[in-house]
Amino acid sequence: MKYRFAEMIWHEIRDASQAGRIAVLPVATYEDHGPHLPVDTDVVLCTGICERAVQRIPDQAVLVPPVAHGYSPHHMDFHGTLTITWDTFIRYVKDVCCSLAHHGFERILIVNGHGSNASPLDLAARLTVLEYEGRIHCASVSHWDLRRAKDKGAQLRSSDYGGTSHAGEYETSLYLALKPELVEMDRAVDERSPMSPSFRTDLLAGTHPEGSAARLVPYWSSQTGSGVMGDATSATKQKGEAWLEAAVSGLVDLVAELKAQPILPRRDQH
Ligand SMILES: [Zn+2]
Repeated sequence: MKYRFAEMIWHEIRDASQAGRIAVLPVATYEDHGPHLPVDTDVVLCTGICERAVQRIPDQAVLVPPVAHGYSPHHMDFHGTLTITWDTFIRYVKDVCCSLAHHGFERILIVNGHGSNASPLDLAARLTVLEYEGRIHCASVSHWDLRRAKDKGAQLRSSDYGGTSHAGEYETSLYLALKPELVEMDRAVDERSPMSPSFRTDLLAGTHPEGSAARLVPYWSSQTGSGVMGDATSATKQKGEAWLEAAVSGLVDLVAELKAQPILPRRDQH
C-alpha cells in the first residue's frame, strides 16, 4: 500500500482521505548544529522518524511531503541558517493543512523537528481547526515530546540535565543512527547553557527540576560559541538507534490515539 502522499495519484489521495487515514506532516528547519553535524539535522531526524512510522501503518496514515524550512531568526549569527518570518511560516503551514482538509483529511498531525517551530506550529494547527470551524482535528507534536521517546530518553541518556538540548546527546545520537558518515564526532563538544534554571531547556527532560518552565529565547550566539547546547560527546549510534525506535513507536501510538479521538460538534450557546 502506498503511504507517500507525493507518490500517489490524485484518486488514491481521494481514497486515502475517505478511508480516514491521518495526514502526517513533518516540519523542520535548516540551521547550524555545532561543529560536528550538518545543517540539515532537524530535517533528517524529523523526516526519518515520520517516514519509518507511517511506513509501519500505511492503512492508517499518509506521509505528506515535509515543510523543510522553519522559524529560526535567533540562529542567524551562524552560517547556514535559513529562516522564514514568523507570520509567513504560520500561514504557509496553515495553508498546507487547510489544503489537506479541503481534500477530505479530517485528522492532521504536524510533527515538529525544531524547538522554535513549536509555538508557531501550535498556532498553525489551531488556526486550521478554526478555519474549518471545528470539523477537523489538527494537532502538533515535537518528536522529543513523544511519550516513548521521553521514557527511553530517561533510561538511556548518559548526560545530566541540559545534555540533550540543541545538537547534544539526543540529536547527535539520532543522526549517527541515520547518516553516520556525515557526523564528525572528533569535533563534538559539551557546551552548556549559561541561563538560570527557569530559562534552561533539555529536549528530553523538559523543565529543570528547580525551574519554572518560563520561556526566554536570546540570540543563540550569546549563549554558545560552538552552536551546541548540550553534550554531543556522549552521543552513540546505539543510543540513536534505540531513540529512533522509541520515537517511531511513540508516533505510531499517537496516530492511533488521534484516529480514535472523536470530533465532537460545536455547541454555540448564543
Ligand atoms: Zn536540532
